Amino acid sequence: MNANATSLTGAILIGARDLAADRSFRAVDPARDSAIEPAFAEAGPAHVAEAAALAAAAFPAYRATAPEARAAFLEAIASEIEALGDVLVERAGLESGLPAARLTGERARTTGQLRLFASWVRAGGADEPRLDSPQPERKPLPRADLRLRHIGVGPVAVFGASNFPLAFSVAGGDTASALAAGCPVIVKGHPAHPGTSELVGRAIRRAVAACGLPEGVFSLLTGTSHELGSALVADPRIAAVGFTGSRAGGLALARIAAGREVPIPVYAEMSSINPVFLLPEALASRAEALAAGFVGSLTLGAGQFCTNPGLVIALDSPGLDRFLAAASAALGGAPAATMLTPGIARAYAGGVAALEESGAAQTLARGRADGGANACRPALFVTDGAAFRATPALAREVFGASALVVRCADVEDLLAVARAVEGQLTATLQLDEGDHALAAALLPVLEEKAGRILANGWPTGVEVCHAMVHGGPFPATSDVRTTSVGTLAIRRFLRPVCYQDLPAALLPAAVADGNPLGLPRLVDGAAQPGAAP
Ligand code: NAP
Repeated sequence: MNANATSLTGAILIGARDLAADRSFRAVDPARDSAIEPAFAEAGPAHVAEAAALAAAAFPAYRATAPEARAAFLEAIASEIEALGDVLVERAGLESGLPAARLTGERARTTGQLRLFASWVRAGGADEPRLDSPQPERKPLPRADLRLRHIGVGPVAVFGASNFPLAFSVAGGDTASALAAGCPVIVKGHPAHPGTSELVGRAIRRAVAACGLPEGVFSLLTGTSHELGSALVADPRIAAVGFTGSRAGGLALARIAAGREVPIPVYAEMSSINPVFLLPEALASRAEALAAGFVGSLTLGAGQFCTNPGLVIALDSPGLDRFLAAASAALGGAPAATMLTPGIARAYAGGVAALEESGAAQTLARGRADGGANACRPALFVTDGAAFRATPALAREVFGASALVVRCADVEDLLAVARAVEGQLTATLQLDEGDHALAAALLPVLEEKAGRILANGWPTGVEVCHAMVHGGPFPATSDVRTTSVGTLAIRRFLRPVCYQDLPAALLPAAVADGNPLGLPRLVDGAAQPGAAP
């Protein structure tokens, strides 16, 4: 199979090779509920083994690349993605039902995050060297010469997410941070967007070749079976896993990883309902504006964001009544938008039906029912604090534009509801100055629940930067210490190595005398600036 930059072959991309398979599948256009050409090869365990062998062979040379070479590679991937032009956005739109404007923005985020990681690697963010000088005269014992740097953990398996076919998929945040860390990557492409995946996979492959890197630095396995992802995680050459998707999927992969002869970490971003606290003064002064902002955030992208505000918590008050009236009116007029896949649309309809039939929440409003195939009809429910705390099912993520409002009897009830929620990616406070005392009481609770706490904003929209945390306690993620967005995401795929009393001639450049790479380093506990790039 041969391909120019923008044609699709349906091949499995293993290193520089295009491979076929006995079985195939097609993508589905969710707006028309119809299959799209071409057929894509179903990868199996033999393909996993081949990709893993190549990745393991590539690891020693790839992790030894200098920061400048690795940064140039990340930038080359970004340029190759841009060079795909409109074809990429068109194919992603066809496979996901997402509008072109959203996908164009997502492409910019994808290339922007590759370039951010490039700059971070150049700035020493992968090596993070620390040196402690020897103290030969120290009593009672001398101190050795100790130098620490970080190296990549080894080949990383990345599971592309359905809801961000570019920014959380083949060249998304997990791939960018693993490559930045010096780890070869094998992507298990999401079966919802195989064509988008192939286009991006080929772009990465071209960057690998242009940068003179070993072919095993990147492979893309396409397929629709759990066996494929399971075999990848079980392969002894895989050292870590990045995943975004369902709680069931993330936990299944984490179980496989933990049960291996050599267990490995799974960094899974799974489910979050992102509570929004409407504090009393803010509600009293601007209930209608809050309702408009909330419905906009809830229905954005058919609600298919991990940061979608699925839970609203407030004290019973006239302000809350105004909010509910305005939100119901806005939601009632909200159009039904196509969801990413028929499976996600079915799961959404099932989740909404379960809330409707729960007996523990009342339906306040539904959006318009005029969508086509696989449409998400927005939904708004209300309950009280006692019912919420007594009914764990009310706190389950309904992926899509569905939200539950919890009407709390008093401050104690509100704090108890806050304590009852599971781990979250975000928690939002809508507050005015007069709400600061209540916010101060909530803050310690929210710090223990969420990775990011916002004031007077909406959680959808995640900035890719150095200070971002897109993580949180379980079930938001499987490892509370990490983030999957922002430069700190690189830490998931790095491990520290300390060199004690090594001869100068053997020291890696990152920790060598004279700082030949010009990296910022921590020397005897003091930050030492690097040479300007
Ligand atoms: P998913 O079903 O978890 O699938 C994600 C990836 O994991 C796919 O490549 C899937 O491939 C693989 N996978 C899932 N279960 C597996 C298992 N038991 N063993 C091996 N591999 C497995 O997620 P999805 O298809 O994107 O959406 C389904 C649901 O996930 C949504 O309704 C929503 O609840 C949730 N979701 C959450 C987020 C978030 O950001 N938190 C984002 C997207 C989706 P195969 O199916 O080919 O095995």
